[in-house]
This record gives sequence, C-alpha cells and structure tokens, in this order.
Amino acid sequence: MTNELVFDPIRLPPVCQDLRREARAFLAQEIERGSFDPRYPRKNEGADARSFARRVAEKGWIGMTWPKQYGGRERSFLERYVLTEEFRIANAPVRHYFTADRQSGPTLIKYAAEHIKQSILPRIVRGELQFCIGLSEPNSGSDLFAARAKAMKVNGGWVLNGTKTWTTNGHSADYMIGLFRTSPATKENRRHGLTSFLIDMKTTGITCGDIQQMNGGHDFNEVSFQEVFVAEDHLIGEIDNAWKQATTELAYERSGPERFLETYYVLDELVKILGPDCDSRAKEGVGKLVAQLHTLRRMSVSIAGMLEAGQEPTVESSIVKDLGTIWEQELPNNVRSIASLIDRSNGKTLLLDEMLEYALATAPKFTIQGGTTEILRGIIARGLGLR
Ligand SMILES: Cc1cc2nc3c(=O)[nH]c(=O)nc-3n(C[C@H](O)[C@H](O)[C@H](O)COP(=O)(O)OP(=O)(O)OC[C@H]3O[C@@H](n4cnc5c(N)ncnc54)[C@H](O)[C@@H]3O)c2cc1C
Repeated sequence: MTNELVFDPIRLPPVCQDLRREARAFLAQEIERGSFDPRYPRKNEGADARSFARRVAEKGWIGMTWPKQYGGRERSFLERYVLTEEFRIANAPVRHYFTADRQSGPTLIKYAAEHIKQSILPRIVRGELQFCIGLSEPNSGSDLFAARAKAMKVNGGWVLNGTKTWTTNGHSADYMIGLFRTSPATKENRRHGLTSFLIDMKTTGITCGDIQQMNGGHDFNEVSFQEVFVAEDHLIGEIDNAWKQATTELAYERSGPERFLETYYVLDELVKILGPDCDSRAKEGVGKLVAQLHTLRRMSVSIAGMLEAGQEPTVESSIVKDLGTIWEQELPNNVRSIASLIDRSNGKTLLLDEMLEYALATAPKFTIQGGTTEILRGIIARGLGLR
C-alpha cells in the first residue's frame, strides 16, 4: 500500500455551519421569488443566471477565497465547499459565474499580469463576467498536448487560428482562457510549446457553433478562431509552458462536490416519497447509496482542506472525480430500481419520473467532462508509481 495518497479527516468548522444556514436562507428566498425551482433542473436552464450571479455577488460569495486586493474575501476553501454543496443540491443556476469562480479566477491570480488581475478579477467578483475553458479540440480532447490551434507572434500581440470544441458556455461567455500552440513539441518534452491566453469572446474572428445535447439542452459549442488578435498582455503565464498551468487548473476542476451531486435531486425526491415506514428493501437500497455518498463527501472535504493548505492534490482529486462521477452516473438507475418498490397507483411518483427522465439523459456526460474515467485512472496509476 502506498503512503503517497493522503485523505486527512477534515471536519468543517463552526463558521461553515453558520454559512450553510445563511446559504439555505438565501436560496429559499431565491426560490420564493421564482428565480429557479430545485425540482426542475431542466427548466432552470432558462433561468436568468446573470442576475442570479449579481445577487450571489452581493453576498460576497463569488471569488470568496481570493485576496481582498482583487475584491475577494479571503475566506477558506472549506467555506467555499459548503456554498458549492448547497447551491449544487438546490440546482441553483450558477452557470454565469461558476467556471470563473472555480478555476479561471484562480488561474489569473497565479499567472496574469498585475493590471489584468486588477481589471478582470473585481468584475468576476461582482458577478459581471462569465468565463469558458478552451482546452479540447476536435482531434484532441483527452490528449491536451496534441492541441493544434495556433498562436503566431505579431507586432504587439498574437494572432490565433484554429478550433476549440465542447466549450461549455462558449456562446455566452465574456472571456475564454484558451490553450494554443506557440511552438512545436520537442523530442524530449511533448508538453512543450503550449501557451495560455485570455481571450475576449467578442473579438473579431471568433465564431461559435452550437452543439445540441441529448437531454434537449445547449451548453456547449464549437468555437473557431480566424485571425483573432490578442494583445501581448493577455498572455497568461509563460510562453510554451502552459501545460503546468493547465494541469493545476484541472485540479480545481476535478475536486469539488459538484462532481458527484449533479443527480442528487432524484435521491432526495425518492427519500421524500418513501418516508420513514417504507419497504425494508428500499431502506437497504437508500442506506447503501447514502453510505457511499457520505464517504465521497468526506474525501471531497479532505481535498478542500488540502487546497486550503496550498497543496495541489492532483491524484486525490482524480480519485474523487472517478468514484464520484460513476456514483452520480449510476444514481438515476439505482433510484429507478428502488422506486419500482413504490405503489404508483396514486401518482405520487410523477415528479420523480420526470426528474429521472432528465437525470438519465444527463448522466452519460459525467464520466467524460473534466477528464474521462480512463484518463483519471492513468493519472492515479502514475501517482501510485504504476506507470
Ligand atoms: C458536458 C461536457 C462539458 C465539457 N466542457 C468542456 C469545456 O468547457 N472546455 C473544454 O476544453 N472541454 C470540455 N469538455 C471536453 C472534455 O473535457 C473532453 O471531451 C474529454 O477530455 C474527452 O475528450 P474527447 O471527447 O476528445 O475524447 P477522446 O480524448 O478522443 O477519448 C475517447 C475515448 O478514448 C479514451 N482515451 C483517450 N486517451 C486515452 C488514454 N491515453 N488511455 C486510455 N484511454 C484513453 C477516453 O477515455 C475516451 O473513452 C466537455 C465535455 C463534456 C462531456
């Protein structure tokens, strides 16, 4: 057994419980005013996410872990964990700010020029800016280092050409942090030659093609770049060395509770319908699911503790994402099979049936987005010294 893997047993401190109460009160108020409905995630796709973001920002909950000099609150990753959990469970429409809050902002804090941080970060904190991630390309998803979209040096900046795909919110985002090839890979290092840029999505030469999803939604896009000019100071980090930045960014992307709670609402509804006096087989089924969820949660909280301590838990977060996405992917089917024990004659499963239909159509993506199961297992194997 390796000593390399560490999941310290972290307990959420009392300040987190206070914040949880505050978050629940805020969400209840939002539900009351009709800004979204936790029971209908499909309908929430049409919610006004921009104005929701502004109200979340007024609470100081966007960029809450960031330095105060950029508008942040310097609160802990454990506090952010609690908010992420409550907002995810409620199916709140966080899409306007979530990517910027989770990973684009932290990337800018680490690698952007000071004047860029000062102009962009406070606007994220105020809920004004939406970000998207430009890593995947039509022929390179898992293998980021095969990226072919190019950045060519010109006077005063760079010119981008190529295509990014599966770009979540590409059609509505204000900015992208995108990975472009600035030099060929070398024999010794195939990761060499990639550079990150901050790209204003309104720049001339950027076009977005919709990709429709099987659940009826439209979140992601194919984004093409034709002679797109990006100013020198929008280069993020080091020329040719962005692979390190991109992998750090993925540690943020893979570790949170949003990675196993996307279909949680079907379990919640099932438990409501079953009530305390249900069939013992149903109790056993729910018990198993809750025990697994509890374990995932403890592991995920532990990762929030490591982020708080300034560590980069790449392997541990890959383990949580691998286990978590499989759990949430199987959840709708598990819930459906427990629900078969319920007497359906009085129509009390109608809402659950509708939820299940949506959850089942959404579930296939979980083990692909943010890194596929196979890729995560490769990272875990490397972390264990097996490859
Ligand atoms: C809902 C959703 C949202 C997304 N949002 C974004 C986004 O905002 N920005 C962005 O850049 N990307 C985004 N992606 C893209 C996502 O990160 C990629 O789809 C993913 O990395 C896989 O790439 P691919 O689809 O090209 O598949 P491929 O890389 O072609 O993989 C195909 C299959 O081969 C397997 N495979 C590939 N390489 C290996 C290997 N070395 N060892 C073992 N098996 C391997 C994979 O696991 C997979 O099963 C999103 C994807 C989804 C589903």
